[in-house]
Amino acid sequence: QGRFTAYHQHILTLLCGHVALSIAEAQLHSQVEHLATVDGLTGTFNHRRFQERLQEEFIRTHRHPDAFSFLMIDIDHFKKVNDTYGHPAGDAVLRTIAKTLIRLVRKTDLVARYGGEEFAILLLKATSEQAERLAERIRKTIEERPIPWEGITIPVTVSIGAASYPNDADNRESLILRADRALYASKNGGRNRVTVYSKLRP
Ligand code: GH3
Ligand code: MG
Ligand code: MG
Repeated sequence: QGRFTAYHQHILTLLCGHVALSIAEAQLHSQVEHLATVDGLTGTFNHRRFQERLQEEFIRTHRHPDAFSFLMIDIDHFKKVNDTYGHPAGDAVLRTIAKTLIRLVRKTDLVARYGGEEFAILLLKATSEQAERLAERIRKTIEERPIPWEGITIPVTVSIGAASYPNDADNRESLILRADRALYASKNGGRNRVTVYSKLRP
């Protein structure tokens, strides 16, 4: 009585093995989860996770009627960056721009790699005016800071399109379409500029 027997040891060993396995499973699960939501090159959220998050935001509008905004950001003449400096330089540019975007937004905002050289940002509780100001700050910051890479610096600019709930759209698809329209106008207007959908001429 009160002794630690071989039998007790046996039970403990079994239990420990079980716990260790559960921990390993949990870690693996969170790694898989991470891979499924995050872009490998830039560490921003991937396209899939961004779409999910945007949809969640529209669902939440029933309870919280807060405004929110969507920025679509596309690097100007990025093909030329690859052609001039090489693909690894292009990758470095993508990583640096991702970092800049993350630094300039609020912690609760969501930055995602939307396509090859396109980023999207979900700005929570941001009106059209706030989104425009932030987009302009992003544009200016990137223009003013050529990206250092292997002893040289690479000048980069971005074009941005913005659209907002509830001003411009009341569902995910049309919000994206309208930000895209605005981005297209920025490209057409000469690049390195910001366009908000609500100020577009019909
Ligand atoms: P625009 O100003 O009209 O946006 O011109 P652009 O050259 O940026 O656009 P285009 O769509 O012609 O080219 C996009 C380029 O982005 C082509 C593709 O090779 C490059 N790209 C896409 N993904 C990556 C990536 O992960 N790494 C690198 N280095 N390049 C990429
Ligand atoms: Mg593009
Ligand atoms: Mg581009």
